[in-house]
Amino acid sequence: MNNLDDLLQRNKQFAVQQSAQGTLMPWLPRAMPTVKAIIIGCADMRVDPAHIFGTKPGEAVVLRNIGGRFTPGLLEQLGLLGRIGQVAGEAPGGGGEFHLIVLQHTDCGITRLAGDPAMLAHYFQIQEGELRPKAVTDPHAAVAADVAALRAIPALPGTWLISGLVYDVATGLVEIVVPPAPIRTA
Ligand SMILES: [Zn+2]
Repeated sequence: MNNLDDLLQRNKQFAVQQSAQGTLMPWLPRAMPTVKAIIIGCADMRVDPAHIFGTKPGEAVVLRNIGGRFTPGLLEQLGLLGRIGQVAGEAPGGGGEFHLIVLQHTDCGITRLAGDPAMLAHYFQIQEGELRPKAVTDPHAAVAADVAALRAIPALPGTWLISGLVYDVATGLVEIVVPPAPIRTA
């Protein structure tokens, strides 16, 4: 069996179990997640928010990229997400408040790109000379920088909560670096 055969086999088991339990949610795009969270996380195989937080289908929107970083690409995804919500008649914020959670982690692969400033600068769409505040080798500083960058986006509802977390791949524990607070204070 190749990888896909194995995955498809597991998927069949998943489908049978979920159907039997009635936990599939084909109606969900027209309703809000039961836990109103948007988690921005890293693509790393070890840091799936569904495993770390035990979230179940329908509980959180998860956007993952390299590093779980604030980038123009991530901003575009957030914009599309908001538009999808509007088209579905469930404007983000209109159906309640979301909690935007930025989840980065120790031993992140992005630290290995520190010696490749051109690639990083392109990823963040900035000049190589502007890379230092992105703190790619320090997840605590990086998550704080990204929360600050998200706070500066006027399109994000100011009443939403935002927080910044670092997951420790050695202990399995999440540390709060930026405690939950409204995106903007009045
Ligand atoms: Zn990572």
